[in-house]
Amino acid sequence: MIIAKSAKDLDKMREVGELIAGVREALRSMVEPGISTMELNNAADKMMRDAGAIPTFIGYHGFPYAICASVNDEIVHGFSKTTPLKEGDILSIDMAATYNGFIGDTATTIPVGEITDELKQLIRVTEECLHFGIEAARVGNRIGDIGWAVQQHAEKFGYGIVRDYTGHGIGRQMHEAPQIPNYGRPGTKEKIRAGYCFAIEPMLNMGTHETRTLSDKWTVVTVDGLPSAHAEHTIAVTEDGPEILTLTREQKQQLRSGASAGA
Ligand code: MG
Repeated sequence: MIIAKSAKDLDKMREVGELIAGVREALRSMVEPGISTMELNNAADKMMRDAGAIPTFIGYHGFPYAICASVNDEIVHGFSKTTPLKEGDILSIDMAATYNGFIGDTATTIPVGEITDELKQLIRVTEECLHFGIEAARVGNRIGDIGWAVQQHAEKFGYGIVRDYTGHGIGRQMHEAPQIPNYGRPGTKEKIRAGYCFAIEPMLNMGTHETRTLSDKWTVVTVDGLPSAHAEHTIAVTEDGPEILTLTREQKQQLRSGASAGA
């Protein structure tokens, strides 16, 4: 069953969304050659706890870290390591916080120093796919419309869309119904209603969509060793359209002033 959130619940989803967005942006500003994912993980853990939140990932089915840190051909669920990041790497970080009983989940892919144009495009298109997916999350549409919106954009560039991992409903639980695949047919699957909250999260591979899991039983990598990018927002479906919850206050203001400038 898909749980529609009340106005009160949505306020709590907004609070935790803004909180985890702040952590994401703080980590983004820390990423540079020489820093390790363990340092980023420890910083994220501290920021969440200092804000009165709990890092949702720790202990989730036994996952040991506050963030998933996935480098280059790692797609998702990567372990934090003390090895320094290198110029030219790309780092996907995925994180979630629980605050006041509700959860915000977000991911982004960050260049480490200067990266190739090929990698820049992979990251840009992944972000664009996320935004096309979010735009399709409208009252009256169906879950298949979200996947279709992501797929039609990703395939223009020949990228592999990861099928083994999907977006999801979110609220008091990190993974609620429905599953939100990043491919699909328009007009299929569950109807979208006001109050639904979703984590939409395309993962795009430079090559094949196929994945395998390393012997640590968590880290998911591309079968062909080519790089992968990930972007995720938690959103709420409102009568007025999708509302991105995992933005900082500054990002929301920018969005509003951009929208009014464009009107
Ligand atoms: Mg998620």
